[in-house]
Amino acid sequence: MPKLRGSDATRCRRTARAVLQECGLVVLPVDPEDICRKKGIHYSDETDLPAGYWGALVRENGEFVILVSASCPTAGNRRFSASHELGHYHLDGHLAALLSSGTHYSGPPHTATNPLELEANVFASELLMPEPLVRPIVDGTDIGLTSVRIIAERCETSLTSAAIRYAELAPDPVAIIVSHEGAVEFCSVSPSLWNYPGVARSKPQRGDDLVRGTAAYRLSRSPEQVSQVAEDSDEAGLEVWFPGCDPGGELVEESKGLGRYGRVLTVLSTVDLPDFEDWF
Ligand SMILES: [Zn+2]
Repeated sequence: MPKLRGSDATRCRRTARAVLQECGLVVLPVDPEDICRKKGIHYSDETDLPAGYWGALVRENGEFVILVSASCPTAGNRRFSASHELGHYHLDGHLAALLSSGTHYSGPPHTATNPLELEANVFASELLMPEPLVRPIVDGTDIGLTSVRIIAERCETSLTSAAIRYAELAPDPVAIIVSHEGAVEFCSVSPSLWNYPGVARSKPQRGDDLVRGTAAYRLSRSPEQVSQVAEDSDEAGLEVWFPGCDPGGELVEESKGLGRYGRVLTVLSTVDLPDFEDWF
């Protein structure tokens, strides 16, 4: 998944937190529809948008409207989509760049490559899962899929966006992978795992095949299990997932089918990895 520069991401997060503060929203879950009401933005989540789009921001006669597609797969996806459009509304330069025709359409977050779309996604993530409210959840729960599930429940987001947020905030070595039909779509790695020798240069990339023998691979072989949100788990050496790493570390793998979304979510975690300084 393409990433923003750190300073751009920080600016987007700061803007989202300022909106929460301005609207007096200090508890979870954050309701983007509530923000629309407070800002005088019209909102509808039962709209027929062109195929492939989840949301739209419209300016009509000086009034703003946020539209979310009725075909957005889940309530969590709808909330993220509304928050993404709120990002375009609030982030510097977005209205001027995107609304010259009066309407901007947005695709699902995992398809974003344009910097303005990435910025709106970072804004949406911080708006729905603000660090001051989510970090205590991460710090207070068991690592891995359990933590992702609790973030998704408390913030009312999709498991995927909760997992991405989890990888950003987890102090432990953690990675999340979303795959589709046996191929990696994206992988996010927590800061402590990213800094581990060999991880950064061998992180799974978009289009890579899932490693045979992993729980994610097994699930990907059965579309029926994926649609039934089945789960599978396993353990494997760090080098199985990150071939640039030396053997010695072990990762717990928890994988889960994402139902209608058709993807498999994989959470890799461990409480500890061998101290690499010992090797030199
Ligand atoms: Zn957009």
